[in-house]
Amino acid sequence: MRKIAVIGGGAAGMACAVLLARANNEVVLLERGDHLGRKLSATGNGQGNVTNLDMGAAHYFSHDPARVGAVLARFSAEDAIAFLSSMGGVFLPDARGRVYPAGRQASAVTDLFRHELSRLGVEVILGARVEKIDDRGGFFVHWNGNSLAADAVVLAAGGRATESFGTDGTAYALAEAFGHSVTPLSPVLVQLKCDPALVRGLKGIRVDCALRVLRGSKERFAGRGDVLFTEGGVSGDLVFRASSYAETGDVLMIDLLPDVQSSALMRLFARGRGEEDLLCVVPNGLARVVWRRTGGDAAKLAALLKGFPLPVTGTYGFARAQATRGGIPLSETGEGLESKFRRGLYFAGEILDVDGECGGYNLHWAFASAHAVAEALA
Ligand SMILES: Cc1cc2nc3c(=O)[nH]c(=O)nc-3n(C[C@H](O)[C@H](O)[C@H](O)COP(=O)(O)OP(=O)(O)OC[C@H]3O[C@@H](n4cnc5c(N)ncnc54)[C@H](O)[C@@H]3O)c2cc1C
Repeated sequence: MRKIAVIGGGAAGMACAVLLARANNEVVLLERGDHLGRKLSATGNGQGNVTNLDMGAAHYFSHDPARVGAVLARFSAEDAIAFLSSMGGVFLPDARGRVYPAGRQASAVTDLFRHELSRLGVEVILGARVEKIDDRGGFFVHWNGNSLAADAVVLAAGGRATESFGTDGTAYALAEAFGHSVTPLSPVLVQLKCDPALVRGLKGIRVDCALRVLRGSKERFAGRGDVLFTEGGVSGDLVFRASSYAETGDVLMIDLLPDVQSSALMRLFARGRGEEDLLCVVPNGLARVVWRRTGGDAAKLAALLKGFPLPVTGTYGFARAQATRGGIPLSETGEGLESKFRRGLYFAGEILDVDGECGGYNLHWAFASAHAVAEALA
């Protein structure tokens, strides 16, 4: 029986440990935090958007989309649902294909993993922050003055997003020690910043909008959903989705009334009743701001409501991001995401140079990459 050390008790590490233990390997799961699946339990606003029925490499960002496609081709959304359901529970899609546990509780997905790991006899060591992996013919994994020998190691220690979940980016060094590189890292699925003066007075207002990300004359993204104005920028489901495509210097062009034509607005404002014409059109706080900015001119008002421009000045950084762009290049891994530099060393999850759009794609990658590793190790 082979002994496999899995480093990182997040979605990828737990999935890998389950699959490897089911294939009769002796598995030790090492997690630096004091419980498993801390990030998984917080996903999807606590509801756990675990995959998406509209699956494919087009929803991912990586320097090696073909390799992402190859991993996804062997693990579909239906496979993810079947895998999760094999531990228990019911997983259902919403109208947008986003799949959630029927109980809409992300922490219950972590509980499914915990029970399955215990049933399979996986040794889980908590509070184990792996500092070093020695390569002396076999692997020796070291943490807090302890060590264990293993025939294979899976590095599933996550990226840099939301370091309060144990992902501060220090785990990349474990791969670098084996000669791996790390592509430039940036936060994605994150709130965007703009000049605070442009959103003054709008904090807390949430609007159902259409939003485009423009880089010069090129449209990088177009979508529909919620935008929430914040102190110095914008947040909300639509902004998180757009953040995968937006860079500093791009312009967010927000249509605050996507279901109303400009001509209809012009007719409404032609009544000339002043600010009263904006009642029940947009929230009052937003009405005050657009009125002030346009001086009440009907054409300018309609234009601003249909195209509210916000140049992006940055993001709220890794501390607030849901995912990391960049990581260990797939080109440095072979079949089954095994290191090209050291046989027996594997990678799964966000630590790799792969990030997905908002909508269940990052958890799907965690499960799909774990499946690729387990398949290779089988
Ligand atoms: C608030 C929030 C909401 C999200 N919502 C969704 C969603 O609804 N759908 C979706 O698809 N994605 C979502 N994501 C993204 C998704 O959660 C991650 O991409 C996914 O969890 C990554 O899985 P992972 O196992 O690779 O890494 P992680 O889940 O980050 O797990 C890595 C684990 O490794 C541990 N670790 C790190 N270093 C070491 C070390 N040296 N030794 C031992 N252990 C170590 C960490 O403590 C951590 O527990 C969300 C993210 C956040 C922050």
